[in-house]
Amino acid sequence: MKVSENLRVLQEKVKEASQRSNRDPEEIKIIAVTKYVTTERASEALECGVTHLGENRDEGLLEKWSTIGDKPTWHFIGTLQTRKVKNIIDKVDYIHSLDRVSLAKEINARAGDRTISCFVQVNASGEESKHGLTPEMVVPFIKELEKHPKIRVEGLMTMAPFTEDDTIIRQSFQSLKNLQLEIQHMDLPYAPCMELSMGMSNDFEIAIEEGSTMIRIGTALVGE
Ligand SMILES: *Cc1c(COP(=O)(O)O)cnc(C)c1O
Repeated sequence: MKVSENLRVLQEKVKEASQRSNRDPEEIKIIAVTKYVTTERASEALECGVTHLGENRDEGLLEKWSTIGDKPTWHFIGTLQTRKVKNIIDKVDYIHSLDRVSLAKEINARAGDRTISCFVQVNASGEESKHGLTPEMVVPFIKELEKHPKIRVEGLMTMAPFTEDDTIIRQSFQSLKNLQLEIQHMDLPYAPCMELSMGMSNDFEIAIEEGSTMIRIGTALVGE
């Protein structure tokens, strides 16, 4: 399938899910997750009008970045090892996987004169295999980030549990939304928390209905 055709279908579904939940489809950004595909395929996505690209490993990001450069908005969406921060920090616009103090410290130390836009990754479902903070840990963690002034918490990120049960998926997105509201009420200048990074190929419609502002789409947009 051409990316342009996939994009058209995806945008239509985004629009329908937005309408179902009385939202403006313009609020929802589509990140094309290119981790399974070639640089050429990523470039094809850009040619069709995609402006956000996501990669989950430093190798993949660096490889594509060396050809594509800084034209798109780059998102680092995978688990980030502390020692790899230096490889990617000047190439990405958003880091979606901030989940521990040691990582915050390293990002802060390597930020130079930039402020780094981050998402705090939450394991909203409590599944053991998933990375991210448990919901109870999120507020104390965000308070702790005050000590790392180069970090700006743009929002929260989660991956839905691995299940066919839409109710369970929906609950995990709702729990992320509730946490977002709690953090917004804290009114911290470094944590406006206006964004929610949630929704992938199989669950983005539920995520939009529950307030997602950034959906991360690989399979359904650029393919596996
Ligand atoms: C791979 C990946 C995606 C995209 O997954 P698809 O199901 O192919 O859309 C989204 N988010 C993260 C963190 C990923 O690793």
